Amino acid sequence: MSAKSIAEQADKDVETTKTNLLGLSRAKMEAFVSAIGEKPFRAQQILKWIHHSGVDDFDAMTNISKALREKLKQAAIIQPPEIASQQDSKDGTRKWAIRVAGGSLVETVLIPDGDRATLCVSSQVGCSLDCSFCSTGKQGFQRDLTAAEIIGQVWLAIKSYDAFSQDKRVVTNVVMMGMGEPLLNFDNVVDAMSLMMDDFGYGISKRRVTLSTSGVVPALDKLAEVSEASLAISLHAPNDALRNELVPVNRKYPIKELLRSAKAYIDGQSDTRRVVTIEYTLIAGINDSADMAQDLARLLKDFPCKINLIPFNPFPQSDYKRPSRKSITQFADILTRAGFVTTTRSTRGDDIDAACGQLVGQVADRTKRSERHRASYTETQAVPITIADR
Ligand code: SAH
Ligand code: SF4
Repeated sequence: MSAKSIAEQADKDVETTKTNLLGLSRAKMEAFVSAIGEKPFRAQQILKWIHHSGVDDFDAMTNISKALREKLKQAAIIQPPEIASQQDSKDGTRKWAIRVAGGSLVETVLIPDGDRATLCVSSQVGCSLDCSFCSTGKQGFQRDLTAAEIIGQVWLAIKSYDAFSQDKRVVTNVVMMGMGEPLLNFDNVVDAMSLMMDDFGYGISKRRVTLSTSGVVPALDKLAEVSEASLAISLHAPNDALRNELVPVNRKYPIKELLRSAKAYIDGQSDTRRVVTIEYTLIAGINDSADMAQDLARLLKDFPCKINLIPFNPFPQSDYKRPSRKSITQFADILTRAGFVTTTRSTRGDDIDAACGQLVGQVADRTKRSERHRASYTETQAVPITIADR
């Protein structure tokens, strides 16, 4: 079975062909409700039960008649993925290893920061794009997550604080910056993000839901037609020669095309004040020199953006090093002096493993899974999660 059909299959209950309602966008929920012969307002009721009240049991849907609940049970399930492990950091960061259909693990991280709490969500198991500094890339691609598995990470995060139906929001921001390339799992990511922003879903403002991409240009062009989420571009180099090495997808879609597409994306949004976030992972001796900072400033001179510097997060299979504090500051200062709003991400959750993917390796150890299975995780997964701006 192809990876795509495995992913599609995973949205259905394993033993039956029941639809998993957790991943249905508003439009798809309406289509589902109509397909079982019910009125459109039922879609809103069900969405609210699932995403406002955290209900995964039809019998808890008290404003729906018993007969209809039985009918729903025949046709559908509400099935979140499973939490394989959860860890809390002293700084309030909480990380989950999430087990998805088929047994693979992906990671989700919640990073509280003052009034804000940012959830970092995965979109794929592994990634095919093989960026040279990324441990998810090293593991290759296994499969796309379903829309239910993506939105399920938000659902599980809120559930784990027992915070559905509470006034205080557990998740104020979402970044699609966990494992995987979101634009290569287009439909499921768009559906999940629409639920994040929908008032019948999580009601998070479009400025606070961010898709990060390494630059799959045709998909980014298409995204402009269907989503209003904020956009982050993983640039990492000021010229094509270096970017070809760090982010191989650049050989197909070079910097100029990527910036053109990103600009078109924000130009197409109704909110004219929006800018693109440029992510730049700083790697010692590779892309962190003062000259590179100046080249970057020149490249982005007329581009509406803010710049987020991410000090490289080391992992065992990589020879790259994180730059010294001094060169990080120097790089940031050059950009700031050139007029860019520039932030440097600080690592959070050090005591529970700064590199997010390491958690998955530990879970594999703890649960004494097979050696082969364990090796595949420890060898490949260490997605760095360094979200909070300093
Ligand atoms: N695939 C998407 C989103 C996931 S990666 C993308 O590439 O944008 C999220 C961010 O973490 C990206 O900017 C990515 O380049 C960066 N990143 C990956 N590995 C890293 C590492 N080892 N150290 C620092 N940043 C890293
Ligand atoms: Fe994939 Fe993003 Fe990692 Fe590149 S940085 S390999 S696109 S997850």
